[in-house]
Amino acid sequence: MTKARTGAATDAVTNWAGNITYTAAQVCRPESADALRALVARSAKVRALGSGHSFNTIADPGAGGVLLSSAALPAEVEVDTAARTVRVGGGVRYAELARQVHAHGLALPNMASLPHISVAGSVATGTHGSGVTNGPLAAAVREVELVTADGSTVRIGRADARFGGAVTSLGALGVVTALTLDLEPAFEVEQHLFTELPLDGLDFETVAGAAYSVSLFTDWRDAGFRQVWLKRRTDQPLPGFPWAVPAKVALHPVPGMPAENCTEQFGAPGPWHERLPHFRAEFTPSSGAELQSEYLLPRGDALAALHAVDAIRRALSPVLQICEVRTVAADEQWLSPSHGRDTVALHFTWVEDTAAVLPAVRRLEEALEPFGPRPHWGKVFTVPAVVLRGRYPRLDDFRALARELDPAGKFTNAFVGDLLAR
Ligand SMILES: Cc1cc2nc3c(=O)[nH]c(=O)nc-3n(C[C@H](O)[C@H](O)[C@H](O)COP(=O)(O)OP(=O)(O)OC[C@H]3O[C@@H](n4cnc5c(N)ncnc54)[C@H](O)[C@@H]3O)c2cc1C
Repeated sequence: MTKARTGAATDAVTNWAGNITYTAAQVCRPESADALRALVARSAKVRALGSGHSFNTIADPGAGGVLLSSAALPAEVEVDTAARTVRVGGGVRYAELARQVHAHGLALPNMASLPHISVAGSVATGTHGSGVTNGPLAAAVREVELVTADGSTVRIGRADARFGGAVTSLGALGVVTALTLDLEPAFEVEQHLFTELPLDGLDFETVAGAAYSVSLFTDWRDAGFRQVWLKRRTDQPLPGFPWAVPAKVALHPVPGMPAENCTEQFGAPGPWHERLPHFRAEFTPSSGAELQSEYLLPRGDALAALHAVDAIRRALSPVLQICEVRTVAADEQWLSPSHGRDTVALHFTWVEDTAAVLPAVRRLEEALEPFGPRPHWGKVFTVPAVVLRGRYPRLDDFRALARELDPAGKFTNAFVGDLLAR
């Protein structure tokens, strides 16, 4: 099999970052829903692959399994303007979805930093943007349609008692072929960037709530934030931000990187989907020289957690490109890292050297341990499954749902099997 990254046209055998080589026996790209159903029904072990932007083995079915890419499926996007909803194929990427939704005068409530990630893959792992009132991307989902182990199609909507497990499902229930999402009227956003926000004296709640979406960036080379990105909806007031210095030039979150691939700054108003992600849709990074980790913990502990990280910053900074601090409103998905608690998310973009990064990851996990952090499902972490189980109060409900929809464990791989102990 050719070794190629998932963004390339040849067989996809590594993830976007290139740190994971999928061990699947086969990578299949069905071109129709019927072909997908038949493939699922006749395979013993299957995992769906979205855009391959996860940094761990979550998508890998393991040796002998089938990695089922949604790349060749029809990219359906059907907007219902009256109902303010959109039905979207699972493999569609947010950039394309957002473009079509916006063309109908409507909007998604939030987006992640990169718009090139697939919808099904993103909501499966609890992917989020920022904002104290914004849940993760999964919070917009009102129904999922999935192909289950015997090849049949199951629809699970919000009124269904199983819905809490059906969206952020780690790919463990079946292949999501379509999702229906809530929309709202289109809105405009301005980005206001600041520099030099000190950690000492930080009023985290006020800063995190200063705009619709707020991100703080630091490389932990000193105790403070190099950048603050405020994304203000133009239909909401513009607060003063006296704690930091307005940026004088356009900025990329990673020091030294050119800002031309970043979405427009300096307070220029623009459509929601051209401001909420940090990176422009028209710039498509085919691969990334980086690894990522992220830990989600109660927002009320944000300041204490930031000081805990500050205390070990010398152990982190040599392998760290940038750390981003965001917030996520509590949501109801049983396996969502922001389940049941208003959350602060501490994200780390590391250098691409796994051996050098893992000791820093372990050190960070020790420092954050008192806050009961839930790692992002799609990123690098070493917290053992037995510890994670204790951090998800509805895990047993999810286990029961997985047994109901997938009795033989066709969609269970090593990653999920470890977590569910099945
Ligand atoms: C540059 C970059 C920026 C990022 N920014 C953010 C960010 O701002 N916020 C954030 O929270 N995360 C972020 N992430 C992480 C990313 O959002 C997650 O890893 C997400 O899961 C990627 O979606 P994907 O389609 O690539 O998923 P994949 O890596 O392809 O798959 C992830 C999981 O979803 C499952 N899956 C995929 N498609 C389906 C399907 N159709 N049916 C059922 N299961 C499916 C897979 O089996 C697997 O378990 C970023 C990652 C990168 C590389």
